[in-house]
Amino acid sequence: MIELNGITKYFITNKEKVLVLDDINLMIEKKDIFGLVGPTGSGKSTLLRILTGFMSPDSGSIVIQDKQLTPTTKYAIVRETSMIFQHFNLLSNLTVLENVALPLKLRKVSKLERLQKAKEVLGFVGLENFSNEFIRTLSGGQKQRVAIARAIITQPQIIFCDEPTSALDEKTTFEILSLLKKINEEFHTTIILVSHDISVIKSMCNKIAILENGRIENIITNKISEFKPISYLEAFNHAE
Ligand code: ADP
Ligand code: MG
Repeated sequence: MIELNGITKYFITNKEKVLVLDDINLMIEKKDIFGLVGPTGSGKSTLLRILTGFMSPDSGSIVIQDKQLTPTTKYAIVRETSMIFQHFNLLSNLTVLENVALPLKLRKVSKLERLQKAKEVLGFVGLENFSNEFIRTLSGGQKQRVAIARAIITQPQIIFCDEPTSALDEKTTFEILSLLKKINEEFHTTIILVSHDISVIKSMCNKIAILENGRIENIITNKISEFKPISYLEAFNHAE
């Protein structure tokens, strides 16, 4: 589904050339929930920007769904993908329904069809009663649900998630992770999950790449026996 070969990226700051990604090689299969974990500044977001065509690498090649990602092919390839961010990146002057329907508006889908689809995906994320609310009235977890609804409305093959739960509390984190897991299981969507939080990555991902100082130190196959959200009650029961 995704193959990276020898990706390198430099940033030039204060006349200094800094190597941010150093010979990244990765293979991500269909239906993987692939984890990219590493400390802040290790290059995770830069690697995602390169994978989503927002930034070009200095060297190396990227193949997504058997197609080489180049400046000319990237628009067609990126159409098959969606992104979810830490700070949701929703439009605050639009309603929930309008935010969710936006990708279809950009694809010139008729108003009737896009509103119907938007309602459908809002139901999927459990926000069917929030269509006409404005974004500012929602909690963090609800905002991320809206972002997830907007991400799945185009039925993407791949969803890239950059720190999707880093702005959320523990309980909401597990609700959002459960929703991503459900999308992976029901639609067979490949998910690339980027996080600095090892427990998030370990609970979700079947394969994990550890990034440090722009290098992949290790790729681990992770057997998840049971995905189990931590309940507050349970945490209290275990407290001394
Ligand atoms: P992460 O997402 O793992 O926290 P980033 O990919 O955001 O890491 O950043 C990796 C490194 O590259 C950091 O040292 C950061 O300061 C630097 N960096 C990121 N974006 C830029 C940029 N546009 N220009 C210069 N340096 C950058
Ligand atoms: Mg980052």
